[in-house]
Amino acid sequence: MQTVTVLGATGSIGCNTLDVINRHPDKYRIFAITGNNQLKLLMEQANKCSPRYVVIADPLHYSAALELAKQYQVEAEILCGQQALEDVSSAPEVDSVMAAIVGAAGLLPTMAAVKAGKRVLLANKEALVMSGALFIDAANKSGAQILPIDSEHNAIFQCLPHNFTYGDLGNSGIEKILLTGSGGPFRERALDTFGSITVDEASTHPNWSMGRKITIDSATMMNKGLEFIEVCWLFGVKSKDIDVVIHPQSIIHSMVQYVDGSVIAQMGNPDMRTPIAYGLAHPQRIEAGVKPLNFKEIVDFSFKTPCYERYPNLKLAIAACEAGQCATTSLNAANEVAVEHFLHGNISFCDIAKVNEATLNAMSMVEMNSIQQLLEQDSLARVKANELIRGKFQC
Ligand code: NAD
Ligand code: MG
Repeated sequence: MQTVTVLGATGSIGCNTLDVINRHPDKYRIFAITGNNQLKLLMEQANKCSPRYVVIADPLHYSAALELAKQYQVEAEILCGQQALEDVSSAPEVDSVMAAIVGAAGLLPTMAAVKAGKRVLLANKEALVMSGALFIDAANKSGAQILPIDSEHNAIFQCLPHNFTYGDLGNSGIEKILLTGSGGPFRERALDTFGSITVDEASTHPNWSMGRKITIDSATMMNKGLEFIEVCWLFGVKSKDIDVVIHPQSIIHSMVQYVDGSVIAQMGNPDMRTPIAYGLAHPQRIEAGVKPLNFKEIVDFSFKTPCYERYPNLKLAIAACEAGQCATTSLNAANEVAVEHFLHGNISFCDIAKVNEATLNAMSMVEMNSIQQLLEQDSLARVKANELIRGKFQC
């Protein structure tokens, strides 16, 4: 029996995680679930999965949460605030933590799980992008096992040899990591119409159903950029070792190319319950509720190279990856700000990349050796991005 904390239980990954766990009551017990503001959903979940703790991230919602807990006959203890998020991630009773808070807000609770040596099911890519070496060093020190949940990284993990040594592609006969992406909803859209892309258009992904922020990131391909950085940290590789490949059908979730000409791919329907189940059960396999691929129904199976003119954010993220930690932390923060402003109708779709680039150019790049420094850099970049939006980019 594994005891699990689900950070970000009310989100897309969180709900899928509870769905997989509900299928295996003999294998998993929920210790805590956390959420930010979807209190009703959180209490419905608590009523169903009977955790020991329910954590509300924002203390402002605490009294409303207590009321709802009574209404939904939730027996769990209701906690709130940042420290509570970290406590339920690092409690001695917990074996595994699903890190599925979106954005930089997930960094500290995820790091708490890493430092406590948990099995960390990492969906929250922004946490790794903004902390990189500190995250990996903390995992090495505590013995935390990091299992990638992002579908591409989960695929790469599955395609690597079992004895793969962090950072040592050569020893395993690996030539390249092929990071695939669908290209999002605007893969074929005429470039001269990008200025008129609406929030609704950008919020609809052709293959995946996901949270709000990652859906916009997929449309700009910043998601692939963040994933590029994530590959570097998770597997200890350099930017030259990765090729991004557009694969519109999202059937292959990524590949590893070996020196003997073999390419190993992981395939499946685009459903996050597959990587979630993989992470929960590793090294075993469990049923995830996902329909198997039906090869007789697959009509197209195609690939192409991404064009940076269409996806300037991808180019920026690769450049930031090569520039180092300060650049990736700053880019992630700027992008969170820009996406939020786009969703509120304050800037256009094309402005997201412009804000990101202008923020990166305006930040001074410094060495960062502590979480405190990362958080300071994150705040500075947010201030700068907001300033730029108020000044230059406001519609
Ligand atoms: P989502 O927006 O659906 O859910 C986010 C969760 O985080 C919610 O539970 C929300 O309450 C919580 N949250 C938001 N702000 C918070 C704050 N300030 N403090 C504490 N909790 C907060 O997002 P999602 O699509 O489930 O994505 C979660 C993470 O997983 C992201 O980092 C995303 O990049 C990654 N991811 C998602 C998918 C997917 O298919 N959805 C795939 C790969 C990776
Ligand atoms: Mg992904």
